[in-house]
Amino acid sequence: MCIGGAAVSELIAKVLDSLKTKISVATYNNWFKSSAWSFDDGRRLRIEVPNKFSRDWILENYLEVIKFELFKLTNYEHDIYFSVNSSPHSSLHLSSQTQAPPISSSLNGPLKNEAPLPKRLPSNLNDRYTFDHFVVGNSNQFVHAACRAVATTPVRNYNPLFIYGGVGLGKTHLLNAIGIEVLKNNPSLKIIFVTGEHFTNEVINSIRYGKTYELRKKYRLECDLLLIDDVQFIAGKERTMEEFFHTFNALYEARKQIILSSDMLPKDIPNLEERLRSRFGWGLLADIQAPDYETRCAILRKKAELESICLTDDVCQFLATHIKCNVRDLEGALIRISAFASVSKVPMTIDLAKETLSHVLDGFAPFLTIESIQQMVAKHFSLQMSDLKSPRRQKNLAVPRHIAMYLCKKHVKASYPEIGNKFGGKDHTTVLHAFKKISQAVQSDPSIRDNIFNLEKIISQQIGCS
Ligand code: ADP
Ligand code: MG
Repeated sequence: MCIGGAAVSELIAKVLDSLKTKISVATYNNWFKSSAWSFDDGRRLRIEVPNKFSRDWILENYLEVIKFELFKLTNYEHDIYFSVNSSPHSSLHLSSQTQAPPISSSLNGPLKNEAPLPKRLPSNLNDRYTFDHFVVGNSNQFVHAACRAVATTPVRNYNPLFIYGGVGLGKTHLLNAIGIEVLKNNPSLKIIFVTGEHFTNEVINSIRYGKTYELRKKYRLECDLLLIDDVQFIAGKERTMEEFFHTFNALYEARKQIILSSDMLPKDIPNLEERLRSRFGWGLLADIQAPDYETRCAILRKKAELESICLTDDVCQFLATHIKCNVRDLEGALIRISAFASVSKVPMTIDLAKETLSHVLDGFAPFLTIESIQQMVAKHFSLQMSDLKSPRRQKNLAVPRHIAMYLCKKHVKASYPEIGNKFGGKDHTTVLHAFKKISQAVQSDPSIRDNIFNLEKIISQQIGCS
């Protein structure tokens, strides 16, 4: 389709208008306001930008969007040229209609001759996700060490490195940290960090716009280190799995490091091709687990420090006690209370935390309270709540009572007097004595140990951690 005159300005205005609806005003003003758009011969869109950086940025982030909008409006796949104002020779041609090609041995499938993409596209790594900002504890020590090793000496250690674990436990953070560390040590390396979803979209678009050559060039020839986050997303997508299989082989043979993350082990990813499943396990499989209480506290402290939030020990302990399975939720809770405190100009206290987080906590983790533990223990031993609170000392009541006190101290983190109060007004020394007694019995008495084990299993199921 050939367009000219008024139709051109109208078309350009429409594309720009639709861009405005997709990005923030600031982004638009930063990147598009200073660009000049025209159609060279009614077919090729020429985007003139003030510098190479703008060109690379638009190219990386908005090329497909612009093409798509143009296509929607004209039903025609326009070529797009970039021209950098300051140096007319640096214009970049992005044609979808070029000639047939020499075939390079490491690429699979038909190739096209293309003008090269800029050598160093801006990386989409998140600079906040560094190793320095990652808190190491028992749950992630191993995976952290593996990531460090790979970042220090890529390929020498494990290839691929496959990280798996539940949502919000730091997989994306670690992948970013590897990318940042490698770039720091060797800024000339070409690092690609994408999600499985993004990779799938790139494959779809490359097929749609006849750009499979560029895709292969980018991933198989020009990439020194490939980080694919949430790789499970490509499962069941045949062309994407096929493309990824060849990408994997090309990189692996060229001794380039591959790092993958997933929410499950390769063997558990449904609809994943066998040949990929086996390749994912060629290097090291490292799992990342939910952090323990101490690590959760350390993560909160780290976040508070990074965000300049004044976090007291009791609020920190409260959050770490109630939000167990997901670091993202833990962080979200901290930010939420801090925002409430600052807007309402009140201090960040446990009461404020309870108030601001009650609906969130209800949503994914029932609140553990002294009462809920008493109910659980009473039911477990077939007793009444009143039995736990009574002063009677016979063994069949005293042992469950002590166990309940122990669990309250351990899981609710309430104070001794507070617990004593809720057990029929007992003295805090009684609770202290019960706590010590059960702590010792867990080591020496198999029957107490079994009871505690079973009750803690119920507790962890209740709060959504297994
Ligand atoms: P995933 O990719 O496993 O779903 P993310 O890497 O996105 O999880 O982590 C969720 C949030 O929790 C991020 O903001 C991340 O910085 C933070 N986070 C997770 N684990 C840690 C940790 N060990 N130390 C510090 N922050 C962490
Ligand atoms: Mg992630």
